[in-house]
Amino acid sequence: MSKERPGTEFHLPETKSGTTTGASPETIYDVAIIGGGPAGYTAAIRGAELGMKVALIDNAPRLGGTCLHVGCIPTKALLFNAEIWDHLKHAAEFGIAGIGTPQLDWAAVLNRKNAIITKHVKGLEFLMKKHKIAVIAGTGRLTGPAQAGVHTVAVTGADAGASQIKAKNVILATGSSARMLPGLQPDSSILTNIEILSIDSVPRSLIVIGAGAVGVEFSSIFRSFGTEVTILEFLPRVVPVEDEEISKELTRLFKKRGIDVNTGAKVEKVEKTATGVKVSYTDANGKPQSKEAEKVLVAVGRAGLTENIGLEKTKVELERGLVKVNENQETAEPGVYAIGDIVSGLPQLAHVGSMAGMVAVAKIAGAKFRPLNRNRIPSCTYTEPQIGSVGLTEAQAKEKGYEVKVGKFPFAGNSKATIVGSHDGFVKIVSDSKYGEILGVHIIGPQATEIIAEAVAVLELEGTVDELMYTIHAHPTLAESMLDAYGAVEGMAINA
Ligand SMILES: Cc1cc2nc3c(=O)[nH]c(=O)nc-3n(C[C@H](O)[C@H](O)[C@H](O)COP(=O)(O)OP(=O)(O)OC[C@H]3O[C@@H](n4cnc5c(N)ncnc54)[C@H](O)[C@@H]3O)c2cc1C
Repeated sequence: MSKERPGTEFHLPETKSGTTTGASPETIYDVAIIGGGPAGYTAAIRGAELGMKVALIDNAPRLGGTCLHVGCIPTKALLFNAEIWDHLKHAAEFGIAGIGTPQLDWAAVLNRKNAIITKHVKGLEFLMKKHKIAVIAGTGRLTGPAQAGVHTVAVTGADAGASQIKAKNVILATGSSARMLPGLQPDSSILTNIEILSIDSVPRSLIVIGAGAVGVEFSSIFRSFGTEVTILEFLPRVVPVEDEEISKELTRLFKKRGIDVNTGAKVEKVEKTATGVKVSYTDANGKPQSKEAEKVLVAVGRAGLTENIGLEKTKVELERGLVKVNENQETAEPGVYAIGDIVSGLPQLAHVGSMAGMVAVAKIAGAKFRPLNRNRIPSCTYTEPQIGSVGLTEAQAKEKGYEVKVGKFPFAGNSKATIVGSHDGFVKIVSDSKYGEILGVHIIGPQATEIIAEAVAVLELEGTVDELMYTIHAHPTLAESMLDAYGAVEGMAINA
């Protein structure tokens, strides 16, 4: 049975996104959105749902932005292939005989990933049409402050009639691109998230520079497919935004999988060789080292696309290249909002951008909304093992002056984890000992990215350990490990 939403089957002509709904030069839109990634398209849909006249300007060949084309969706597609592949390695253990030696058909893996993207692009195009959003293909740039309450966005590359879009409000949602190391250009062996998603074969060896979510996810994918993976991370730990114990556990489990994890490693030089690349670095002890591999992935963060969008002619303020906004996503320029990866002070995640988009249009429409709460944003890393977290880490809670009480429950004590054959990892609850409020939840292990949804709701509703210790969780589930972890805060886990 198809798992796709209804609507994704709807077929529009294969054209640039700009032709789905035309724009007229006389129209004054309620809102013009520059950028058609998850932040921009969500803002467009919610804006239309709120009854506004919306224009969405995007300069990529198809709607969807980084997330759909070279980010969240393709990486999760490959991670799912990797998961199946890992299960196949243990087929006999699950009583499945006769598989022989599985062969990886990399071209088919990429085709499946591309088909998923195409399906969802079509879904988006359908939604634009359904909501009568004027989608304009081209590069948008603010021309300056509003004149008599109306902003003008100049659009280059647009069809005639759409080169000047007029709107009462403008939302900037231009997203981000991969940062490169100085002097490097991506090519067939020096890769960013874009090139690595269409390499023509699984590399024998891969050096990954940077162990944030992007770096560790690609490490996980290619290790599953047999690549010799080396991670070089400048900071003292991998996934540095996570709770320290999560970083330690991921390092332990990655090493167990045969990934060579090097933290405190400062990359000095990346050179091309006859067979690939050579990376010279200084290790954590200050010793010069080098490593050769077929390919190198540079995953050292994302730069906001704030240049050439006309900000210099406005009061919009930047902070280390990213746009400063208030809690309504408003910039310092009246009528100009910013959402998504270009915003300063928020994690660069699709769900953050899309919620910010809903906030911005609700503010414009005068509808009810709740601003984003920085401490209630889930963060998911879809590696093997997965990581899901929300709220304060133990160190952050202590820094904020809480009297912290921690409960930790290992998946080793969870029966569903035994059934799915995945016992590594734990659930960690960070709570405030005074009122028992749950301040943070940090999970590493099977389906952590799904289980974390409970924790998001718990934090949003300001749940306490007392309340959650008596909240019935179905048995046998991986989510039951949450119940044991709440109990562990009071030294009363049942299964450990
Ligand atoms: C490898 C990888 C994996 C990721 N995985 C996840 C994940 O699992 N979960 C998650 O939450 N996040 C993930 N992210 C992050 C996520 O992709 C971004 O946070 C998200 O795409 C940001 O959305 P956005 O709308 O702000 O920008 P983008 O998605 O970058 O979209 C911006 C759009 O604006 C267009 N544009 C730019 N400038 C202009 C202009 N001047 N005029 C018109 N159009 C313009 C661009 O072409 C693009 O289409 C991942 C990122 C990467 C790189």
